Amino acid sequence: MGRIIPVGDAHTHTNPVRGLGAEKIAARFHAEGGWFMAIVALSPWAYNIEFNGIDSYRQVLDLLARECMTAEDAGVKTACLAGFHPADVDRLIDKYKLDPVEVLKLGEAWISELGRACRSGFLDGIGEVGRQHYKTRAERVIISELILRKALEIARDNDCIVHLHLENAGKITIELVDRAITSLGGFQDTAKVVFHHMKPSHAVYAVDRGYSATVPGTPTLLENVLGKFPPVFMLESDHIDDPMRPGAVVYPWVMAQHVRRLSRKVGEEYLYKINIDNIVRTYGVSPP
Ligand SMILES: [Zn+2]
Ligand SMILES: [Zn+2]
Repeated sequence: MGRIIPVGDAHTHTNPVRGLGAEKIAARFHAEGGWFMAIVALSPWAYNIEFNGIDSYRQVLDLLARECMTAEDAGVKTACLAGFHPADVDRLIDKYKLDPVEVLKLGEAWISELGRACRSGFLDGIGEVGRQHYKTRAERVIISELILRKALEIARDNDCIVHLHLENAGKITIELVDRAITSLGGFQDTAKVVFHHMKPSHAVYAVDRGYSATVPGTPTLLENVLGKFPPVFMLESDHIDDPMRPGAVVYPWVMAQHVRRLSRKVGEEYLYKINIDNIVRTYGVSPP
């Protein structure tokens, strides 16, 4: 099996209410060489928090902070992010019958609070924000885009990391975000803008523009990506920790095992670049 390669998970979720939670996940990940996880908050209802306005999002923030501390106690360094997922826009209109303008106002107000949480050091970044990856009504894509722009502005002003969940329409997806950032007057540190769930070729394109990108670390993708693309991206499990969809997208510890299996083939230097250097560059954590 070769020796343990330190593995960084640049985008994952933990759910202590319905799923395994950070305690079990971090322990298993750490045992397989996991040294870092960026824990991204799920939507309130994923934790059985019924929607009751902005307060339900505030409850998520407290839960997230506890999850990050729990993971740290298990020996895994963390970055903590909370946001306003584009799927929330659809859910709030469909299930909770909010008016589109109300959703926009709620999303923008929440993003402003997240900026203050970043500034105070309670949070490391804003995410996920972005656009729906599935077909939805035009006004909902517009709301998501406006919330995304607000998130970029707030992240820029408060020195937050920002995780973008986008439609993956190829390079043009990156182009649109790049232009939004340019119109804001740029970012101090563009490495803090993370394009999540990217195809490897698009990840390379985003990094060429100065941004960061994560590629899903499923066994098949790892086989096809590691050693074949320049080591400029990071890996993500995007594990949603939902017992209804076990192992989706991939368990962080399974990702770590597969990274290790491929180490002889692709070489340690290549893996250290992806799993340590790129994480350190984006998240500003000290290496293991
Ligand atoms: Zn996502
Ligand atoms: Zn995610």
